[in-house]
Amino acid sequence: MNYPAHEVQFHMYRLGRRNRVAQLYVKNKDTFREFYPTTDIDKYMNGQIISIGGLLARMCVACGTAREIERFVSKATNSSGCGNTCDSCRTTQRRTEKLHAQYLTVRSKL
Ligand SMILES: [Zn+2]
Repeated sequence: MNYPAHEVQFHMYRLGRRNRVAQLYVKNKDTFREFYPTTDIDKYMNGQIISIGGLLARMCVACGTAREIERFVSKATNSSGCGNTCDSCRTTQRRTEKLHAQYLTVRSKL
């Protein structure tokens, strides 16, 4: 395979999964893995857990920040084993919902 690595990387980030990129280049995904092995950056961009300086971290989908896995709730259905949003984003979401409920209450009394 003689595709430029940056082009393949672009499609990896765009499509998210190796088998989809392999399908795009009409290649077997195992052949494709030899040509383009998964890097930590790929794993990080896909929301998987990576090790940064000995700390296990993943990217929060809401704020796009790398955070320690302790700051995510446990979620067995996800491949990473933890939720997609960090504790501070979940708190903000709860606060937003509460403020919206107060707004609706005040509006109904007017
Ligand atoms: Zn977040």
